[in-house]
Amino acid sequence: AKRQGKNQYFVYNMELDKMASRRMELEKDMQLALTKGQFVNYYQPKWNADTNYPTGFEALLRWKHPAYGIISPDEFIPIAEETGMIVSMTRWVLEQACRDCVQWNKHEPEPLTVSVNLSVKVFDSKNLMDMVLFALERSSLPAELLELEITETIVMNNVTDVVNQLKPLQDMGITISMDDFGSGYSSLGSLDLIPFHTLKIDKLFMQQSHSPAKRAVVNTIITLASQLNLQVVAEGVETEQQLDFLKASGCQVMQGFYFSKPMPRDQLDEWMAALNR
Ligand code: C2E
Ligand code: CA
Ligand code: CA
Ligand code: CA
Repeated sequence: AKRQGKNQYFVYNMELDKMASRRMELEKDMQLALTKGQFVNYYQPKWNADTNYPTGFEALLRWKHPAYGIISPDEFIPIAEETGMIVSMTRWVLEQACRDCVQWNKHEPEPLTVSVNLSVKVFDSKNLMDMVLFALERSSLPAELLELEITETIVMNNVTDVVNQLKPLQDMGITISMDDFGSGYSSLGSLDLIPFHTLKIDKLFMQQSHSPAKRAVVNTIITLASQLNLQVVAEGVETEQQLDFLKASGCQVMQGFYFSKPMPRDQLDEWMAALNR
């Protein structure tokens, strides 16, 4: 038994070693990955269940690592935030997303938006306005078609500073969306201080939508949004039951695997072409 314990300890240590060395390797490789073209924007549609048509797409970043394959943002975004790489990475995501949005709108009668996720580090860098202006100018995308997704934690971290950076962006016509709503410790009392247009209900609520209590919270968020004149989007919709529940509760715009997984730019065209309209 003693020996086994020792082996387990050994195996555990090896796992830790492997994780640490992967982490270091990713950190090192990340420096060149941008210029080597290893980052790819995937896009997931936001679906309007009233019109049965998408309203736009959210950019979700992927890293195509030559040795490790596709790496999830949950793994590399924290590293990029720690090293500061997140700023140049976001600059790239924004520019690519704006260019792609101009492309997919070429044949659309009703314009489709693009959403980009922002990290708190981008607010700390004070480069956000410059980055956004540059991306819009370069791509000629109208500001009205760009949406920025921020989490409640970002805002609560430093309300005044974040609001000061968001306000001019909102004045330009950019849409601000509160991501992962309901998952953090958001202060409902500060909601009216923050210039935003959309509440995105965290996907946790869909994963637990079998629970009457969770459904009650979702209904409350939807009512709150409507009373504050905010749009509401539900994420993580995977089943028809969840879709029906949301429609009955008055939430029209949804995102989730039920409609589509995030997909690369070329698949987006095929997906759009296959829609009935
Ligand atoms: P998020 O912004 O909350 O994005 C939603 C996540 O849920 C995405 O994971 C998406 O692929 C996943 N998802 C979508 N529909 C469903 C569904 O029906 N069921 C389930 N179980 N999951 C679904 P992903 O793409 O792995 O991204 C994870 C997180 O990484 C994002 O969470 C976002 O916080 C961050 N992220 C992604 N791209 C960027 C980026 O360009 N910049 C920054 N700062 N963060 C990013
Ligand atoms: Ca998001
Ligand atoms: Ca989210
Ligand atoms: Ca999230």
